[in-house]
Amino acid sequence: MHAHHALEKLIAGNQRYTTDRLSHYHQSGSRMRAISAAQHPFAIVLGCADSRVPPEIIFDLGLGDLFVIRVAGNIVDDAILGSIEYAVEELGTPLVFVLGHERCGAVAATLKHGKILGHISTLIDAIQPAVDRAKTQPGNLLDNAVRANIELVVAQLKSSMPIAKLVKHDRLKVVGGLYNLTCGTIKIIA
Ligand SMILES: [Zn+2]
Repeated sequence: MHAHHALEKLIAGNQRYTTDRLSHYHQSGSRMRAISAAQHPFAIVLGCADSRVPPEIIFDLGLGDLFVIRVAGNIVDDAILGSIEYAVEELGTPLVFVLGHERCGAVAATLKHGKILGHISTLIDAIQPAVDRAKTQPGNLLDNAVRANIELVVAQLKSSMPIAKLVKHDRLKVVGGLYNLTCGTIKIIA
C-alpha cells in the first residue's frame, strides 16, 4: 500500500468516528484468525498515552491495522525509534503518523517545569525543545508547544537513517496530526 492510500484510510476512519458511524472494522474473531500467522499493519501511530486518544478507536480500525506506540507526550527515544524502524523495515509499513493532542498533560508539565524527581524528567527533557520553540511564537503557549512537539518529533523521525532512506525513495511518509479533544477531529500539521 502506498502512503497516500494509508493516510486516506486513517482520515476516512476518523471521519466515521467523528460522525458516529463507527464500523468496528476488523474487531472480530474471524479477523483475529485471519491475521494470526502474520501482521501487515498499514500505518504506525506514535501517540500519547492519554486515555482520551486511543488510535484504534479514533481511526475506527481493529486488529492488525495499526502498529501503535503510545507514550506520554508522543516523544521519541531510542526504544521507540527502534520499534518504528522495525515496522517500516521488517513489516513494510508505509506511513508513520505522529498523533499529538490538544492540552497534552506532558507538554503542560514541561511548561511548568521546576525540579521533578524520578523519570518524568525524561519526558520533560524530550519535550523541552518544543517549549523553547513555542516561547518564540505569538499566541497560546501550550497550543504552540503541542504543535511544535509534533513538528519536532516528525523531524526527529525523518532524521533516522533507515526512515530517511525510505522517505527519499517514496516508500514511506511521516506526517503529524493534532487531535481535537472536543470534536475528535484530526488536523494534519506536519
Ligand atoms: Zn498527551
